[in-house]
Amino acid sequence: MNTTFKQFNLSEQLHKALADMGFETPTPVQSASIADVLNGVDLIVRAKTGSGKTAAFGLPIVERIESGQSPQALILTPTRELALQVDSDIKKMAKYKKIKATAVYGQHNIDVEIAELTKGVDIVTGTPGRVIDHLERRTLYPNEIKYLVLDEADRMLDMGFIDQVMAIVEQMPKARQTLLFSATMPFEVQTIAWAHMKDPKTIEIESETKTVDLIDQAYFRVRHNEKRKQLNAIIRTKKPKSCIVFCNTRRTVDRVAEFLNHRGYHAEPLHGALTQARRLKTINKFKRDKFAILVATDVAARGIHIDDLNMVINYDLPVEKDAYIHRIGRTGRAGNDGVAYSLVTSDDVMTLYEIEEHIGALIEELPLPKLPKSDRTKKKRFADKKRVRLSGGSVVKPISCKVYKGKAEPSSTGRKSHGSGQAEKQSSTAGKAYSDDRVKAIIAQYKSKPNGPAKRKSIFEKIKSWFN
Ligand code: AMP
Repeated sequence: MNTTFKQFNLSEQLHKALADMGFETPTPVQSASIADVLNGVDLIVRAKTGSGKTAAFGLPIVERIESGQSPQALILTPTRELALQVDSDIKKMAKYKKIKATAVYGQHNIDVEIAELTKGVDIVTGTPGRVIDHLERRTLYPNEIKYLVLDEADRMLDMGFIDQVMAIVEQMPKARQTLLFSATMPFEVQTIAWAHMKDPKTIEIESETKTVDLIDQAYFRVRHNEKRKQLNAIIRTKKPKSCIVFCNTRRTVDRVAEFLNHRGYHAEPLHGALTQARRLKTINKFKRDKFAILVATDVAARGIHIDDLNMVINYDLPVEKDAYIHRIGRTGRAGNDGVAYSLVTSDDVMTLYEIEEHIGALIEELPLPKLPKSDRTKKKRFADKKRVRLSGGSVVKPISCKVYKGKAEPSSTGRKSHGSGQAEKQSSTAGKAYSDDRVKAIIAQYKSKPNGPAKRKSIFEKIKSWFN
């Protein structure tokens, strides 16, 4: 692995830009990709969000192209936020070269985009729908495109853009270099690679894809009707300097944000029902540290880069397993420490196990934090006080997360409970009592026979009963 950007023989302009950006050492995805991109190789890069992939394709593209009349590079992203982020990064990389970059995306004034494109742009970053719009209007000429980047290809698939992506790919010149970045490789993404790339080389950033290596994860077992109360207790006791709380619906986002504001925090909601301008304003305020807690849905928060975010809380566990990785990937960026907590209700047990299998790690349970007595008695008065910002909080204590490779977990390894006598606790439902050892055995049984639906269901019921 390269340890310095010097080894890529990039021009002086690029080195100056890197110094301005504060990038001293290439991340693993950059070390593994930059030379190949410079040499014109088509790449399929399996790397997670937050791994430094924008510079992995951005630096060599900016290095290779010179200012021209028509766009020479097209970067497709699944969301507007990511398009803006990538465009902003590209502009920083191109700062000392006479290269122009712009972003095109839905809900943005198309006339402004057309004016920009007409002036002459070298690198265009955009969402598939808006790119097609420009191709149809002939305000975006594909003829000179030499580089096509599909960023977060699996997300584009998830969001239903696959046909649009295919339609765009088919309009690009054959003599081009294609770079595909994706956290996962579903069949449809592989199909694009087979059909539209030239002898692509595959790069897997193994340690980086295991986002879990960098991020300490834990979960709290909570009752449905106590989620907000426990969220408050977690935030109050763990004191994050900046935190994103993820919810599965817009409605929950609004409710949770409102609840936190009533509790005296400064929290702001972020979801798809808000206008584009309001969303961008909220993201910028959060980035500039104007408030400490962002309450968001997956789609709205996708692609947001906040370097010093130190906590993610899954108020709702995501339904989709990859969303878990994307969410916790918001923290622990570029090697920084981060912590991710999840609230798990009895209905979430199965989802939790599926997530664990997916990430190849056991997420440990923590005892629910207890609010200091003073906090509990003063709660009412506190709510009426002016909003307080959570700053200067104590450092979040790291929680170890055991990582295991492969699907099967050693049968001796059960879910661990911590403190508060949880390990010895027995719960009784319908006349049956389950000790923690019994539950461990059930979990081991579940993990060793994940394919028998009937068995799975009965084990699930047992685990559920333990939670109730
Ligand atoms: P990306 O995966 O491109 O979104 O990058 C994730 C974060 O890492 C962004 O905040 C980048 O600014 C930062 N980053 C990317 N490459 C480097 C690097 N070589 N050194 C330090 N930070 C980096």
